[in-house]
Amino acid sequence: MLDRDKSVLALACIGLLASCGDAPVGPPTTQPNLLMITFDTLRADHLGAYGNLDGLTPNFDQLAAESIKFTNAYAVSSTTGPSHATIFSGLYPNEHGVLKNGVMLSDDVVTIAEVLRDNGYSTAAFVSSYIVKSDFGWVQGFDKYDEHYNFARRRWGGLTVDTASEWIADQPNDKPWCVWVHFMDPHKPYKQPAEYLEPYITSELSGNDLDMASYKGAVAYMDSVLPKLINTISSQEAGAGTLMAITSDHGELFGEHGHYGHGGGLYEDTQRAPLIFKHTSLKPQQIDTIVGLVDYTPTVLDMLNIDAGTEMSGKSLRPMIDGSDATMRTVFMQRRIFDESSVEQILAETGANVSGSQWSVIDGDYKLILAPEANEVQLFNLNTDPQELDNVAETDSVQLRKMRVVLSAILDAQTLRVSATELSDEVLQNLEQLGYAK
Ligand SMILES: [Zn+2]
Repeated sequence: MLDRDKSVLALACIGLLASCGDAPVGPPTTQPNLLMITFDTLRADHLGAYGNLDGLTPNFDQLAAESIKFTNAYAVSSTTGPSHATIFSGLYPNEHGVLKNGVMLSDDVVTIAEVLRDNGYSTAAFVSSYIVKSDFGWVQGFDKYDEHYNFARRRWGGLTVDTASEWIADQPNDKPWCVWVHFMDPHKPYKQPAEYLEPYITSELSGNDLDMASYKGAVAYMDSVLPKLINTISSQEAGAGTLMAITSDHGELFGEHGHYGHGGGLYEDTQRAPLIFKHTSLKPQQIDTIVGLVDYTPTVLDMLNIDAGTEMSGKSLRPMIDGSDATMRTVFMQRRIFDESSVEQILAETGANVSGSQWSVIDGDYKLILAPEANEVQLFNLNTDPQELDNVAETDSVQLRKMRVVLSAILDAQTLRVSATELSDEVLQNLEQLGYAK
């Protein structure tokens, strides 16, 4: 039995659920279920709840209005594998070892699914892309791992929701469950049902303009399938006790800073992620403090009053939610292109040198982006220059020196996990099919 004495959720449960404490035989579990959603490749600025005016996401916006909403959350990387590994482990990429897509998530890494399964949860994942296939180590901790595709090694969100909803509906009331639903719809190619794409596309559009329009349709489609999942949960007897933790792994660039797609940089357009937590015990509020998704798992476990049983670099955001600590956090980010042919391809197509590791740190108003192998140093004041157009690295040497010290301290504190980084021919071929290599 879990010690729930200090759980904010369990405390609220006493007031909200009559069955707490002296429940009859066979009552619904009082330990909250957990729904984790990751929207792959979703820019925060395409959500109405994050300021978008196109009306693409009414269903997400409704959820966000009922949630704790972090407006300045940052993904740790700009590719799927490293970012998801951080979301689910509370570790930085150097620490979990998934520095690029296709690299195995080591069995030694403790994931949130493992922790919850060890604490009595039924666990299931419903994913929509080859990048997070079970063979890459993502399966650890999950009793069920559903990874079917309906085109190009990916699956429409609606089909993923169908399968997840079926599984959730079949769960008994007396055991908590943890479900991860991964959506791939905002990722190219945009092949969602035509009725969702057509409102945004005109015959004159081509190239990047067509991509930008199609992206909107893909986001709108993804949002349209959310109600089935949410309604399935709320129709369950224990559904009201479900904690929802929703975010994205990175965004997408449509020519900003000369980049297209994602994975090539750590600019705001790919790094700013939605982050909401919804539970009946959590009073909806907006929190503008800068945070990183490395804090996702520590926060969720803290809310569920479950001890991770392992060291994590992320820290629970609950003190911010409770109002006991609003201290701005330092955000660290990192990316590495996964193969040399992609580096050459991006250089040829855009002129951008993306070789080697690139690191970034946000501390206060300033953001440093450093890529030693590419001889790149960028320093931005996000307060006065949120679009990162004015690199002040050469003119503000004092701030640059300070930010270099901050970055060095973070990197020095990380213990590097050595993972096999050579990708097999089969993996490379599949990544190529997904548009990551040529
Ligand atoms: Zn991704």
